[in-house]
Amino acid sequence: MKTQILLPEDTKVAADILKSGGLVAIPTETVYGLAANALDKKAVESIFKAKGRPCDNPLIVHISQIDEIYNIVKEFSPIAKKLAAAFWPGPLTMILKKSDIIPQEVSGGLDSVAVRLPQHPIARRIIKESGCPLAAPSANLSGSPSPTKVEHVISDLYGKIDAIVDAGTCGVGLESTVVSLCTDVPRLLRPGAVTPEQLREVLGKLDVDVSLVNPLKKNEKPLSPGMKYKHYAPKVRVVIIKGKKEQYINYINKIADKHVAALCYDEDIDYLHVPSVSYGKEDDLNLQAEMLFDSLRKVDKLKDIDVVYARCPRMDGIGLAVYNRLIRAAGFNVVEL
Ligand code: AMP
Ligand code: MG
Repeated sequence: MKTQILLPEDTKVAADILKSGGLVAIPTETVYGLAANALDKKAVESIFKAKGRPCDNPLIVHISQIDEIYNIVKEFSPIAKKLAAAFWPGPLTMILKKSDIIPQEVSGGLDSVAVRLPQHPIARRIIKESGCPLAAPSANLSGSPSPTKVEHVISDLYGKIDAIVDAGTCGVGLESTVVSLCTDVPRLLRPGAVTPEQLREVLGKLDVDVSLVNPLKKNEKPLSPGMKYKHYAPKVRVVIIKGKKEQYINYINKIADKHVAALCYDEDIDYLHVPSVSYGKEDDLNLQAEMLFDSLRKVDKLKDIDVVYARCPRMDGIGLAVYNRLIRAAGFNVVEL
């Protein structure tokens, strides 16, 4: 298949492809999404095929303005309205009971649906012009780091999808926060740029799923099916190192094998005796979120590296989301110093 590279102003071309059942990678403020008409089963199936995504991992449905939600969910509850007023448009996804027009293919067989109103103006224009809600998971091959730049989408999906809209780098850099409103107490299923602290200010109570930062137990069924799968991982083995800056640097320099690399902060690079890739500055959690996936892809481009030792991020604010992605990339492999 020939993949067209579109400009930000080509929203009508993108919308026409989507209307006719095609796949278009679109920019959002979180990461690039691989969009299809959420009401068209065939189009939705082709998302799973292009990404190699397991079919029980449900998709997020994107809308361009709030009133479009009434078609998609059984009830837009008062608590959901409160969250929408506080964080939409933006990087927050809500899980609500689905209406009958949402195909099982989108919800992975569940009776709920994930909905988001993104902030990115190009994403919203494309949704509006296509005239339908868009199912859009991240526009990468399943399991690999999510795409924050067009070059990432090209490297994973060129030739497999109809078009890619190039609108530069995604500002947030990590996927949306996911909150389930189908549980008795609202539950955080995936951390993101909307932090637990911000959610609690609006909701009062918020449960945080233990599987955000811990591996699932054997045979445990997660509330969010995506949690079962290995995610965000480069090809080289990632190990997280928990400890102070000096301990981290000493640990790596002691090994200093030629097949070892470091995924660290800007401030560490001058002290490390191995090839190093930075994922931001130590005190700038937003920059770490923006850079993480690009840095994981850069690590894969280093020659002859078997293992990369990653500096452990902080766990407050958006740092929890950075840690959640990195610990999955590492397959929960953590060394505490
Ligand atoms: P992605 O499409 O890669 O951004 O991932 C979407 C995430 O939302 C996955 O972890 C899914 O498991 C989760 N998700 C989507 N729909 C639902 C749903 N109805 N219930 C629970 N989790 C969901
Ligand atoms: Mg994804």
